[in-house]
Amino acid sequence: MMYADVIVDISLEKLDHVFQYRIPSTLEKSIVVGSQILIPFGKGNRRMRGYVVGLSDHTEYPVEKIKAILQLLNRSTTIESRMIALAWWMRKQYGGTMSQALRTVIPVKQKVKGKEKRFLSLAVEKDVASAYIVQHGKRSKAKAKVLGELLEKRRVPMEWMTENLGVSSSVINGLKEEGLILIESEGIYRIPSFLAKGERGEGHRLSLQQQEIVDDFGDAYQQGIQRVCLLHGVTGSGKTEVYMELIRIVIAQGKQAIVLIPEIALTYQTVMRFYRGFGNRVSIMNSRMSQGERYDQYERAKRGEIDIMIGPRSALFTPFQELGLIIIDEEHETTYKSDTIPKYHARETAVELARLANASVVLGSATPSLESFYLAKQGEYHYYELPERIGTRHLPSVEVVDLREELKAGNKSMFSRALKEKIEWRLKKRQQTILFINRRGYAGFVSCRACGKAVGCPHCDVTLTVHNNGTLRCHYCGYTISIPKRCPICSSSYIAAFGTGTQKVEEAVKREFPQARVLRMDADTTSGKDGHQKVLSVFAKQEADILIGTQMIVKGHDFPHVTLVGVIAADLSLFSNDYHSSERTFELLVQAAGRAGRGEEAGEVVIQTYNPEHYSIVTAAKQDYQAFYEQEILYRRLLSYPPVGQIMAILAMAKEEKEGENLLEQLKEEMQESCMMMGIMVVGPTSASVGKIQDVYRSVMYLKNSRIADILKMKEKMEEYLNTKEELKEVQVQFDVNPVHIY
Ligand code: ADP
Ligand code: ZN
Ligand code: ZN
Repeated sequence: MMYADVIVDISLEKLDHVFQYRIPSTLEKSIVVGSQILIPFGKGNRRMRGYVVGLSDHTEYPVEKIKAILQLLNRSTTIESRMIALAWWMRKQYGGTMSQALRTVIPVKQKVKGKEKRFLSLAVEKDVASAYIVQHGKRSKAKAKVLGELLEKRRVPMEWMTENLGVSSSVINGLKEEGLILIESEGIYRIPSFLAKGERGEGHRLSLQQQEIVDDFGDAYQQGIQRVCLLHGVTGSGKTEVYMELIRIVIAQGKQAIVLIPEIALTYQTVMRFYRGFGNRVSIMNSRMSQGERYDQYERAKRGEIDIMIGPRSALFTPFQELGLIIIDEEHETTYKSDTIPKYHARETAVELARLANASVVLGSATPSLESFYLAKQGEYHYYELPERIGTRHLPSVEVVDLREELKAGNKSMFSRALKEKIEWRLKKRQQTILFINRRGYAGFVSCRACGKAVGCPHCDVTLTVHNNGTLRCHYCGYTISIPKRCPICSSSYIAAFGTGTQKVEEAVKREFPQARVLRMDADTTSGKDGHQKVLSVFAKQEADILIGTQMIVKGHDFPHVTLVGVIAADLSLFSNDYHSSERTFELLVQAAGRAGRGEEAGEVVIQTYNPEHYSIVTAAKQDYQAFYEQEILYRRLLSYPPVGQIMAILAMAKEEKEGENLLEQLKEEMQESCMMMGIMVVGPTSASVGKIQDVYRSVMYLKNSRIADILKMKEKMEEYLNTKEELKEVQVQFDVNPVHIY
């Protein structure tokens, strides 16, 4: 006998209610996860539509009480069925519950819709609006009033119109319907009216290499061959231009496309390129939007009002009727991995979604993730390459400077002689320089010279960070104090703040190049809305000579007047306990180098390091991905790390110090035999590298194996075991399959 777990409604409140139904033997073969069915529901056996979210061959209810499914509804897969099947796959792949997975893939309409500020503006040229007033003004006074107001003020809050002009919302909607005005929610990018009408800007004629890729993809697509492709192209090689052509192919067949771009690279310029190409058939999603606004975007996609959705990770779940293509730009970015449950990777999930929807996937990067390149080499992914920059612009020349030699030569400055000379030359020639500090979260802290301890957060296992306003703050929980005068541990007054990396570099620059106009980009200088964009636009307008910052500044921005990039200490990201550190270092250095020489002038890069012989640095200096890959994959193979091996983290969080670790020990013991039989290696448990966050202790254990299927089987076993342990509810357990950060 087979049973189906059924949900009767996919709205938020009912997700956790799963009802079991018997599958009649006639339907046993045809019902799958995602199927829409007709069921008798409740006391009166009302006939209702349900979705199958799970299948099993046993039930915990008395068999005679279980009702049977009445009918299988339309066999063709609807969007809902596809999303439910995707959620099912995600739950299996990444852990968590089905309802958590469903909530991730199916946007739910919130009951209380947050108050949204909406704005009105003209959708037509001014003379069209004026003509309308002249023609229809007498008959529709209210409409004329609104248009008149917009002619004058361009952009007016809807509320203001209804309250101060006394026009009803039906008048406003009428104008919208006639295509005269736009109603926009805050947070949505504005489509300039000349583009909204679908006027295409100038496209480029594709280069030979670009055209070859487009043709090859197009031929396969016409034949109905769906593939996953890796587009490996250096920065500025014209990948985005290729994406747009591929989208045209897909749209020409009446299908739609999703484009994932990391939020940090989702800049005005990028967005405008797509608007210019596709007008108002494009929609943009970002994390600043409210849930309601995002829901509206999804609805527009469902209604077929748009063909292209651009956005970060969550845009992947846009419910297009005929999804044809998913593009993931900068596919190596770690932000594509979710940090909440289910901890899915957008890349892997996109591949599965494409399989379900019969669509293609294109992954683009200058520095592909080891995973993608590995799969491309194995022939699982189709490989396309764009090895050269467009036009006559060449990749910059790179010099590696050994900082140990500098010290030997008596140079105690932060800048090597080579870098210093090159900066001076740029200042003379009025060209711009970027100075890059290669470290995530490298922030200032306060430490005591008597006892040597740094001032830490009492709730989290981290040091507090110095902020400009004279406070110390915890980046995990927000705990804030003013900088103490005495050491909280030994009361010594020999206590001092160490500046942040960026601040220190700024001070040094001001000392050594007093004539330079300097900009710094970090959490302190970019706080507030659009702070980020402000700093970048000042620099783009050449109102500063030197820009100092962390990875924020090396991703995706295009400054044509930058001809020099200096990496202050390339090894800062090299030595952490994470097996990704070489990959991240290589990627950051290549990205940083890619910022130089994007205009007419050739670019130069200086990489300062204490480890000039490390392969990450050697290969990055040559911009040689292949060489880096060959070295790195040896290391991964040796230690069976992904992509060669598979690894799963099991994170246990508890209020009591030893509770989580004890649970993991117990789990390890319980599973020891099965692990041994499956050849799964268990590492740990041990305290996580940040052992406490917000007073919750964190312990971690890792499973390693060469086959993902085994790891997932073990995960299921563990989940089952944990579900039976009532007394363990005090400990929260999370699974993370192939984590992008080590815990
Ligand atoms: P990537 O996405 O690989 O960084 P882009 O598509 O942004 O590269 O292209 C880099 C620059 O070259 C852009 O300014 C783009 O407008 C220009 N470009 C791209 N393809 C062509 C082409 N075929 N002819 C001329 N310019 C091009
Ligand atoms: Zn804290
Ligand atoms: Zn002290």
